[in-house]
Amino acid sequence: MNQTILMATINKNYDKLQGSYLFSEIFRRTKNFTEKNPGVEIISLGVGDTTQPLSPTVIRGLLKGVKKLAHIKTYTGYPDAQGDKRLRAALSDFYKKRNISLDVGEIFISDGAKSDSANIQSIFGTDNIVAITDPVYTVYLDSNVIAGRTGKYIKGRYEGLIYMECNEKNGFIPSPPKQKVDIVYLCSPNNPTGAVATKKQLEAFVAYALKNKAVIIFDAAYAQYISDKSLPKSIYEIKGAKKCAIEINSFSKWSGFTGVRQGWTIVPMDLVVEGEEKGKVNGLWKRRQSTMFNGASNIATEGALAALSDIGQKESKKLIAYYMQNAKIIKKNLLKLGFKIFGGNNAPYLWIKNPEGLSSWEFFDKLLEEAHVVGTPGSGFGLQGEGYLRLNAFGHRQNIKKAMESIRKNFK
Ligand code: PLP
Repeated sequence: MNQTILMATINKNYDKLQGSYLFSEIFRRTKNFTEKNPGVEIISLGVGDTTQPLSPTVIRGLLKGVKKLAHIKTYTGYPDAQGDKRLRAALSDFYKKRNISLDVGEIFISDGAKSDSANIQSIFGTDNIVAITDPVYTVYLDSNVIAGRTGKYIKGRYEGLIYMECNEKNGFIPSPPKQKVDIVYLCSPNNPTGAVATKKQLEAFVAYALKNKAVIIFDAAYAQYISDKSLPKSIYEIKGAKKCAIEINSFSKWSGFTGVRQGWTIVPMDLVVEGEEKGKVNGLWKRRQSTMFNGASNIATEGALAALSDIGQKESKKLIAYYMQNAKIIKKNLLKLGFKIFGGNNAPYLWIKNPEGLSSWEFFDKLLEEAHVVGTPGSGFGLQGEGYLRLNAFGHRQNIKKAMESIRKNFK
């Protein structure tokens, strides 16, 4: 008897993804331009990657981590899947100084905020309704698409998702959804718009989450860029947040760890979800991490411990001040040229309104062709990003100045 044997199949949700289009298209257009214009120097303010060297204290910490591996008495192998207890204690102290009390069992060390912000959804039911902002850091979106929480992609939107629109009218910080959702993603300071939520705005989200039994996933990767003391750096500055919010954070943009890799996630014991007891969500994340993650690098952990020391924090402040001075230079120059600009005050991102009603890609092309500067088209972050371009303040000072000079001289 002939039996039909089927081949292995793929996760069809991957076919719904749109995301990689953005950066591959930026790369394609930039390459196309440089091939036609050999010798023309391109300055990229597009990809949000750090450029300045690690601080001396962090370097000493990393070296200490390497040296420990050279001796039998100090060598360590697999780390604790939840993370080195010393680093969790140091983070707990760090929050305590801001009147936020966290037990070391509530802190999980990771290899950065990207993996945690993508993976955290896996501990929640696939039937949960998810709300994201538009525009959005696409990792929250794509991870939920892959997990099957969305339907088809139609005209720039996935069926089944709730979009919280961010625009000039609301200062790019939305109000909580009108309908009940189960999971809400927030990012403040925001990538891509550079907007920062006020205490009052976060209070509205916490009140919404408590009332609607929703969970907030709060990405605070740029918290240390906030210099305005009235703005919250952590969702846990809001009363009641420990009952409804998970916070994700990173040393990447704080201390230049984009290549070193080290971050953390807080899952409070008090966070409860439908039909489960206190501690269940925390336990699930612990289970997930111990099953699918073998712990953050022990060398990077020594670097992170050094970054958290008093002197380490002082040095990281200098690093951030450098990037924020870049932001100031970009803002000042572009405002002088008549551009409308948002963000860039307490965040390393500037959200530029495109001149003359140009679309995001039209403005991208014009900036590339005339001034040889690469930005990121806002439309790549969602429908509401159309008509905007993101510039970031990461970069060497001379390149930032060169980019501004070139825009001033050549942009028509
Ligand atoms: N979250 C946001 C909002 C980001 O913009 C980024 C990086 O650009 C990340 C997370 C990822 O950070 P990490 O380097 O810690 O993975």
